[in-house]
Amino acid sequence: MVVVGGGVAGLSAAIFTARHGLDTLVVDAGQSILRRNAHLENFPGFPAGVNARQLLDLLSEQAEAAGCERIEDTVVRVEESDDRSGFAGETEGGERYRTEYVVAATKNEVGHLDGIEGVGIIDRGKAFVDTNERGRTGVDGLYAADRLAEKPHQAIVCAGHSAEVGVTILEDDDHPFYHDWVAHKDYFTDRERDLPPGCEEIDEDERESNALAVMQDRFVDRHPDDQETHPSLEQ
Ligand SMILES: Cc1cc2nc3c(=O)[nH]c(=O)nc-3n(C[C@H](O)[C@H](O)[C@H](O)COP(=O)(O)OP(=O)(O)OC[C@H]3O[C@@H](n4cnc5c(N)ncnc54)[C@H](O)[C@@H]3O)c2cc1C
Repeated sequence: MVVVGGGVAGLSAAIFTARHGLDTLVVDAGQSILRRNAHLENFPGFPAGVNARQLLDLLSEQAEAAGCERIEDTVVRVEESDDRSGFAGETEGGERYRTEYVVAATKNEVGHLDGIEGVGIIDRGKAFVDTNERGRTGVDGLYAADRLAEKPHQAIVCAGHSAEVGVTILEDDDHPFYHDWVAHKDYFTDRERDLPPGCEEIDEDERESNALAVMQDRFVDRHPDDQETHPSLEQ
């Protein structure tokens, strides 16, 4: 699967698909609008808010830990393969890829989809893609997530919808019903139940100590990157 766009949305979809073993590549042009946010005060889980560039770094780190590959480049073209079994894509840097699934998570950029017939582009000053509630477009294997799928312009909404699109792809790819739950040791097996697909049982302390160390380290200092201004204000 290829995710075009590696902001909060694209990375959220990628975390879900990569965690379930789907080969996932994120191609990102590096212009996430999160770089312009001052401080995210409404992203659940951070009671005093979180630096938006720090959140972007944490999401990238999480996607890579899940097994996702990331490259910084711009996708210039996506086309359906002749036999309609997938897509071929090309980046500005000359990389080519073939894939069964594409997720467009590019906020309002749609130029790379110009070569695909049957994508409903909605133009309201900004461009959107016509999708159903789960992010499926009119073209099999092509999905659009977050702002592009007309979701509200809030980081958690974009993340949530894109995670849902990731799970939708797993369903469409015939993966077994999928939870992605991490449960207490013996939570299922003590009740003589098989572990459902995508579930794990862990020791109480198994990951907590690592999580504490990672978060303490990532939040020791202020994030080094400055907040970016709107491009129209750049000299
Ligand atoms: C000033 C400002 C303050 C904000 N404050 C808040 C706030 O406090 N709380 C809140 O919830 N939301 C806030 N938002 C909104 C929030 O930032 C966005 O809703 C959210 O970041 C959208 O995520 P995204 O992944 O869709 O977009 P982005 O994070 O912009 O990611 C899209 C990515 O796609 C890449 N891309 C585009 N085209 C291509 C291509 N062809 N090939 C490869 N990559 C491509 C871009 O480079 C970019 O990295 C704010 C926005 C702004 C501008």
